[in-house]
Amino acid sequence: MSFDEAETQAFKDSARDFLTRENQGERMRRMVSTQQSLDREFWGKIAEAGWPAILIPGEQGGLGLGMTEMTAIAEEFGRAYIGDPIIPVAVQAASLLMELPGSDLRNELLEGIASGSLVVGTAWQHRLGQIEPECKHDAVRQGDVLALDAEFVAASPAVGADGWLVLVGVGEQPVLLWVPASQAGVQAQRYERVDASNMGALSLQGCRIPAQNILGTADDVLRAIRTSLDRARIAQAAQLLGVARQSFDSTLEYMNVRVQFGKPIGSFQSLQHRMVDAYIQIQLLDYAIWQALGLVEQDQTALPMQASRLKLRAEHAAGLVTRLAVQMHGGMGYSDESDIGLGLKRAMGLASELGNARSHKKRYFSLIDQARQGRRDDQELPADSTHNPADTQQFPKTADWNEMPEDVFRQMLRSFFKVYYPEHLRHKASRLHWHQIKDWYKTLSDQKWIAPAWPKEYGGMALSPDKMIAYIEEQERYGVGRPPDQGLVMLGPILFRFGTPEQKAKYLPPILSGEHVWAQGYSEPNAGSDLASLSCAAVLEGEYFIVNGQKTWSTLAQDATHMFMLVRTDKAVKKQAGISFLLVDLATPGIVVRPIKTIAGDEEYCEIFFDNVKVPRENLVGEINQGWTISKALLGFERLFSGSPKHSQNTMGIIEKIAAQTGLFEDEAFAADYAQLHCDVADLSAAYAAFSEIVRRNEPLPANVSLLKIWATETHERASLLLLEAAQEHAASAGFNTYAGPNAHTDAITVEDVQMPLYNAVAAKIFSGTNEIQRNILAKMVLNLPT
Ligand SMILES: Cc1cc2nc3c(=O)[nH]c(=O)nc-3n(C[C@H](O)[C@H](O)[C@H](O)COP(=O)(O)OP(=O)(O)OC[C@H]3O[C@@H](n4cnc5c(N)ncnc54)[C@H](O)[C@@H]3O)c2cc1C
Repeated sequence: MSFDEAETQAFKDSARDFLTRENQGERMRRMVSTQQSLDREFWGKIAEAGWPAILIPGEQGGLGLGMTEMTAIAEEFGRAYIGDPIIPVAVQAASLLMELPGSDLRNELLEGIASGSLVVGTAWQHRLGQIEPECKHDAVRQGDVLALDAEFVAASPAVGADGWLVLVGVGEQPVLLWVPASQAGVQAQRYERVDASNMGALSLQGCRIPAQNILGTADDVLRAIRTSLDRARIAQAAQLLGVARQSFDSTLEYMNVRVQFGKPIGSFQSLQHRMVDAYIQIQLLDYAIWQALGLVEQDQTALPMQASRLKLRAEHAAGLVTRLAVQMHGGMGYSDESDIGLGLKRAMGLASELGNARSHKKRYFSLIDQARQGRRDDQELPADSTHNPADTQQFPKTADWNEMPEDVFRQMLRSFFKVYYPEHLRHKASRLHWHQIKDWYKTLSDQKWIAPAWPKEYGGMALSPDKMIAYIEEQERYGVGRPPDQGLVMLGPILFRFGTPEQKAKYLPPILSGEHVWAQGYSEPNAGSDLASLSCAAVLEGEYFIVNGQKTWSTLAQDATHMFMLVRTDKAVKKQAGISFLLVDLATPGIVVRPIKTIAGDEEYCEIFFDNVKVPRENLVGEINQGWTISKALLGFERLFSGSPKHSQNTMGIIEKIAAQTGLFEDEAFAADYAQLHCDVADLSAAYAAFSEIVRRNEPLPANVSLLKIWATETHERASLLLLEAAQEHAASAGFNTYAGPNAHTDAITVEDVQMPLYNAVAAKIFSGTNEIQRNILAKMVLNLPT
């Protein structure tokens, strides 16, 4: 999903139409080579289109719109690779003025920006790399005049601006002043920017500014500058998104037509996968902007953290894509005659302004660290620890769950888990076996809460997607183990859609009660990624199929009573057309199940041998030879659920526990890695929310849901590696290990099996279709790259 609503899209379309009327690449190259500071003629056209007026209220001649519209326009400026100072003027200067107390001068300046008659810059930065405003003693009050001796390293725009909103210090007092460019003693010096952006040094030596030019004083000024900077950073992220999209689209087009070795270069798998990774970064940035805008709208205090998070992702995404674009274009990509290099330069320019990724990673860490230290542990939110069976309202067996307020629903689940879930099974890192978890399964089944996603007519809770997410999150938060659930998650939905009334009546109730435990039999020794080449055969003889062959890697099949499986029923046709879907009772003679120990040390999956196994004909689901369609029916939802951020969040929680205990957060390199991962997980949650929203709207999941599976599992893998680093020598110690506190007075903590998240992550990159296969799907079905 994108944050574009129809209106915003129309806004964007008109901007794109306008910005592509003239050859912007040519104009940019000309501006760079002639070192032209400000294209006033073009600025006039921008003003006519109303863009500098977007954020400014109607009373000052503005459009009174918000950041959604502003970021939409910024994205289009990014697409055109242009360096004209839309963000410095229309976001940074305008927001700064809007944050200040009303005055005639303030209103005049806002009106000037809105009409395009004034190009207003800002100057607050005294040294390179500074990302927060600081007050420096560089002004003295002399009656009605302020005498300035101030130097700024990065005024924007610099040469060509009509004046600047300047931060000076009168003693300890921060003061924001309007300094017109025409004022004696003012000198702006433009840096030779590679991307035609207009930044430079501003020198105010012996400058005498009337006191009536003061726009604000004291901490209000610093607060206003901070807000304006963060809004500008969000708009920069949107502009970088536009740069990345434009570079990506041109590259994709080129890869379809550029032929080498007799085929389009877009058909080479290594290049396809690199393009998919670039595409994932672009999508993550889009989801993150969409989510950040929503968060900031709800709560302004989220602005600094969201701004730094976006700057981090945007710099990485646009940098990766624009460098890849140069590489994919070969010699032509390096030529200044093509526009490809402009994207790279624009990405560098935008990344360097208002703090680069390194500075924002540091800032992001300090913000999350403050939040961590101020947070109370909500793992154990107050919950009833007793259940009065006479009180049927405490844990109702049926209700209109979707009408229930979410906090009430969550609280009810928490209380139930607290009363009934066995303490010794909380937060188990490995998958639980049936004998360990069957009592809990029975408890949930008796409560009628075992099948949250099933329709009510089949005995489920029929939860809407948001309640479903809440259900999963609360289980995760309490540390509820996952029971063998393939009957619930996979077979049930298949039977609802393809099963006969007899099959539904026979098989659905025992799934709910736990009498039948199901395993999935798809993979074979010679049919993994290429599942359609499976050979385990079923031959129809009278009223029975006779099954011969082998299945493998079947999760917890040793605990299962039944298996749903794909079998070959026709060898003569195209491989996908000769597959059927069978239900098999594992107690049938001729079946041997052999558990296989995994690298995690547990017997988590099995191989199963079939020797002349008689399966009743009525156990065929759907038509004969239609099994392939059935097996694929639920793939999208499987990917959504394996794309949940819960595993990464859980591992981040363990890292936090160890790092806080051992003082690792004081280590700057560790803190930087932690901040990056925190941001990766936040962006994963944004992507997950975007896809869940599609489900919520009852629309089919698009093929690009594969990106979620890739990002979720690979983010979890990176988190699991950071956990091993945090565990230090205990990275290779299994079982429970103790981490001493920083001093003798602090109690030690214990953490179990720190390797388990890594094992889980590497397994998840393989099952439900490997990540390479997901990249193939994205390359073919989403990017439409040639085969
Ligand atoms: C923990 C776990 C649980 C599992 N549970 C089940 C289960 O319950 N039921 C079940 O049926 N199966 C299950 N599987 C099996 C899983 O679905 C397969 O392992 C998976 O589909 C990959 O098949 P494979 O192991 O044969 O690897 P292969 O297909 O042989 O792949 C080997 C490597 O080659 C790569 N590769 C293959 N083809 C391509 C290509 N075209 N392009 C690029 N790269 C390619 C793969 O990505 C992989 O890296 C499970 C696997 C694991 C690890």
